[in-house]
Amino acid sequence: MKPELVEQIKKMRNDGVATNVIARELGISTWAIFAAMLPEEEARTRRVWNSMKQRCLNPKNTRYSTYGGRGITVCERWKSYNNFVADMGLRPAGLTLERKNNDLGYNPENCVWADWATQYANKRPPTEAWIAGTRKRFVLFRGQKVGIREVAAVAGVAPITIWQRWQSGLRTDDGLLYGRANFTSRPLSKLWPMPDRSERDGLVRSWVALGLPKTAISQLLDISKGTISRILRFSPQERARRTTGGANMRAKTHCPHGHPYSPENTILYRGSRFCRTCKKLETNAREKRTKRYLRESRRAWTKEYLKKKRLARAAVKAMLAGNGTREAKG
Ligand SMILES: [Zn+2]
Repeated sequence: MKPELVEQIKKMRNDGVATNVIARELGISTWAIFAAMLPEEEARTRRVWNSMKQRCLNPKNTRYSTYGGRGITVCERWKSYNNFVADMGLRPAGLTLERKNNDLGYNPENCVWADWATQYANKRPPTEAWIAGTRKRFVLFRGQKVGIREVAAVAGVAPITIWQRWQSGLRTDDGLLYGRANFTSRPLSKLWPMPDRSERDGLVRSWVALGLPKTAISQLLDISKGTISRILRFSPQERARRTTGGANMRAKTHCPHGHPYSPENTILYRGSRFCRTCKKLETNAREKRTKRYLRESRRAWTKEYLKKKRLARAAVKAMLAGNGTREAKG
């Protein structure tokens, strides 16, 4: 619910307006008003509890097939919200309800509060996706094709949320998805600013330990796989000793092929300089290769076509000749 709406509800309640009148005025349910009046901790705990019941017990829920439908149930005790809170406590910010054993239901022994990266590591493989269909779903993130689970792990929301937002077009022109819970209208990159070096290295180590694919890590953090291996290979002290912070590269005035790094000849991309002349040469060479390939394949095709035509003609000729003789005999 939008903060402005919550403010408005609170104001009307303080003015002594009856709940049903507020509901009618604002076009929302009385339950929504009740939820808006709850402290944030309480509200988010109720949301989790409610959606747990929905996906396990309500056959009309879109996720029922991967929960209730495959025998994941809510224990009798937890059908009461108060028992649930007594066992689990209020939901800590950013954490979600995680089942330790994915094949068992929701009960005090099998549940903990966990972050999405941990949940991601414990999930069933994507081929058995909880989303309808078996294909892995991708979204565009920082210009790369990334699995929604990877994006969700970083954004700290459920993969289904990422997918729903993607489908409903909540993205910038270059493909970045918007927001986390409550639709903050911020692209994920802003929501999750680039961590500093030591923080980033720590993230890489913990994600590798969780079993997140290296491709995903490199895409999400905007670093190369080489950097990831170096992070894993060397201790932080060794890394600091080895790196010059890019000073060697910055000191260079010309590209490896001898073109100057002048403003008009330099492309800045991800903080690195690239030579425009070299890029142009590469592009031209690639276009030349493509054209040659097309020319050659067209030539080969024509050759093949003419050959077939010649053979067909010969066959017709032979057939006509054969018929001719048979007719002559008849
Ligand atoms: Zn160059």
